[in-house]
Order: sequence, then structure tokens, then C-alpha cells
Amino acid sequence: MNKITLKPGKEQSVNRFHPWIFSGAIRAGEGRFEDGDPVEVYSSSGRLLGTGHYHSGSIAVRLISTAGDKPGRRLWSERLERALLLRKECGLAGSDHTNAFRLVNAEGDGMPGMIIDFYNGTAVMQAHTAGMHRVREQVAAELCNVMGGSLRAVYYRGPKGLAKQAGDPGAPLQSSAITDTSASPSAVKGGREAAGTVDGKKITGYLIGNRGDNTVTEYGNLFAVDWERGQKTGFFLDQRENRRLLGYYSGGKTVLNMFGYTGGFSVYALRGGASEAVTVDSSAGAVEMAEHNMRLNFEKDKRHSAVCADVFDYFRGNNKKYDLVILDPPAFAKGLRAVRNALQAYKRVNTKALEKVGYGGKLFTFSCSQVISKEQFRQAVYSAAINSGREVRILHQLAQPADHPVSIYHPEGEYLKGLVLQVF
Ligand code: SAH
Repeated sequence: MNKITLKPGKEQSVNRFHPWIFSGAIRAGEGRFEDGDPVEVYSSSGRLLGTGHYHSGSIAVRLISTAGDKPGRRLWSERLERALLLRKECGLAGSDHTNAFRLVNAEGDGMPGMIIDFYNGTAVMQAHTAGMHRVREQVAAELCNVMGGSLRAVYYRGPKGLAKQAGDPGAPLQSSAITDTSASPSAVKGGREAAGTVDGKKITGYLIGNRGDNTVTEYGNLFAVDWERGQKTGFFLDQRENRRLLGYYSGGKTVLNMFGYTGGFSVYALRGGASEAVTVDSSAGAVEMAEHNMRLNFEKDKRHSAVCADVFDYFRGNNKKYDLVILDPPAFAKGLRAVRNALQAYKRVNTKALEKVGYGGKLFTFSCSQVISKEQFRQAVYSAAINSGREVRILHQLAQPADHPVSIYHPEGEYLKGLVLQVF
């Protein structure tokens, strides 16, 4: 296996169990370094610190084990077993009411770079690193062993531009950081791939089985999930508990669901007895799916309407106020450099949303930007509240659910933040 030795003192982050090694921390490398290679990481005094996957970016290694385990089938099997057990313990896997959940949440489940969502018998895998991309078939095979008969198919969505990993600006590893002692002088390779392809081959498709039932149940609500063409793995499982909370507030209320995607919050609103729900999204495909999901749950119900529009245009052209407003935009900041602009955008959109809330109504507002902290988001909403001139109080502080666990050593994994505000 390739070996990397860190500069003196740089083992500190590994001693604190942080799973990333930045390229600047590396003193020397031994071996052929191709994106996705397994590597052993040593301290400057020669102590084995851990094993992981190499990548030629600023995050040079994502550690998978600090116990000396080699990345491979046995390790995947152990990690998947443990991941499945958690989903059983938190009442998801094997439940009657829900058959869609996140089974593997990257660093939070000890598998950096790997996401696996389970949709009623189909596992949708997404690798965000070259290392996890390379072992996708191993992981899929172990997943079948671990899940047994409850798994019918594994669909794989290949990495989109590996260089654009979260937090990774894509700077190539300084060649001086690696002393290549192998025969090949050009062993450090900065592989950059076009979206959806590796080595020019299409990499998205079924690894096991084929297309099956794509209707899932979430707390008894039905949703069609398009994992082949939809966003991310097809559905935003991370909002499940927050959707449910909205349902409790919805009895007799009017609801405006901004950035509504396939209508998740709107279905819960109607189930909770809302008198009216409007879903707004700029994607025509999402709006169509939202309408389909309504029909799945409430055939011929006239309480819902879906609008294909940009939310800012919608805000401009509409004066009606609602009892409940949901604001769940896509990540406004993808990297650290975008934080300032993103905070301005959160402030602006929240100011607009607050104007739409009727007296005593509630705003469910979210940020899924990984690089925006809970405090920064709250500050942006605070500024929006001041702008609005309304009386605003916090009722709930929301986050991602237990099937999206966060390693305490990897706070970057805590990306979803939400506030429920009451507005007078
Ligand atoms: N709340 C949803 C997930 C929202 S994802 C759920 O629970 O499933 C963010 C959505 O915002 C995407 O569907 C995207 O199409 C939409 N979007 C992005 N920019 C937009 C804009 N300017 N106006 C309206 N919708 C937008």
C-alpha cells in the first residue's frame, strides 16, 4: 500500500480523530499515487496513524480507519452492519410506516465519501471521492450480504467532478509534498473527470438488479422517488422529521412551500389538515413530481397547487399571506469563498419570506450549506427579522435526523440547520 508521512506535529488532527489529511500536512509519499488509491498514513516519527483513500486535492487523504484496518470488504461489511443497526434502532429499517432512509452518511458512518440511501428495496449509492468510486462494487456486494432479502437492487450515481468535493477547492497536491520513490516519475496524477464519467466510461446505472417499485412510504405518506434523474439521490430524506413537525402545525392552516421540490412538506401539510398548500419550485420536473405525489396521497383533492417559478419572482408578484411558510433553498454557499454572498442571500430571502407570514403565523426556514454555521445562519435570519420589522420568536431549532449522523470529530458533517419562527 502507498505510504504517506506527515510533517512533524501534523499528526495532531489525526490524534483528534479528524478524518481528513490536508496536502499541506504531508512531508513525503512512497508509492504510486493515483486518485482513489488506498494509503497508510504515518507520523513523522514513523507511527502508523491510519489508513484511507488518497486524492490529489487539498484534502489529500480521507481516513477510513485509525485502528490499522485495511480499506476492503471486511471493513465495509462491519461499517454497513453498524449503519443498519442504527437505522433499526431509530425505528426506520424494518418499520411499517417508513421504508426510505439514509443507510450510510459518509464520515458520520465511518465511510468518508460514500452516501447510500435506501428506497423501498433499492439502495442508491453516491460516491463523492475517487476512493469510494473505485470500491463501489465491493460495497454493493457487502450491502447485499448485510441487507439480505430486503435489498432488491443497487443503483449507483457516479461522482460529479471529483475535484469539486465539499471543502475541496481542487488545488492539485504540490508535487514537492510527495517524494515518489516508485519506478514511475509521474506517479502523482491529478485525475479530473467530466461529470458522470470516469476514464470516458459512463458510470451511472444499476450495479445489482434493475429498476423496481419507486414509491416509498414515509410515516405513511407516499412519494415517488426518481433516483435516476432527480436531485441528489432523488429525495431529501434529511427533512423527514421536520416535515413531520410541519404536519403537526398544519390543521386548518394555509401553507406556502417555497423551494418545494417534489412536494414533501406539502404532502405532510395536507395530511395534517391544511386548508390549502402551494408548492413553488423553479424545476418543471420537480413540480410535475409534486403534483404526482399529491395524487398518490390525496386523489382528486383540490387543496394543493404547484407553481413552476423562481421564488424571487413569486415573492414579487404575490401579496397573499399564509399561516405557514416553508423556506428550504438549495445550498447557497458551496465553498468557503462563497460564505459572504450566501449570508446576504439568506438574509434577503428570509426577509421576503417573513413578509409572507400572516399575523401569528410560522416560518420554517432552513440552510443546507455545509460551510455556513448554525450561528451564521441564525445571524442572517436575525438580520432578516430586523428588516421585516415584525415581532419574531424562535419555537424550534432543527437539524438533520439520526439517519444522518455527524461524527463529533467531523463537525463539517453537520450541514442542515433550521429555525421555526412565530411571527406577529
Ligand atoms: N424542501 C424540499 C427540498 C428542497 S431542495 C424537500 O423537502 O424535498 C431545493 C429546491 O429548490 C430544488 O428543488 C430546486 O429546484 C429549487 N430551486 C433552486 N433555486 C430556485 C429558485 N430560484 N426558485 C425556485 N426554486 C428553486
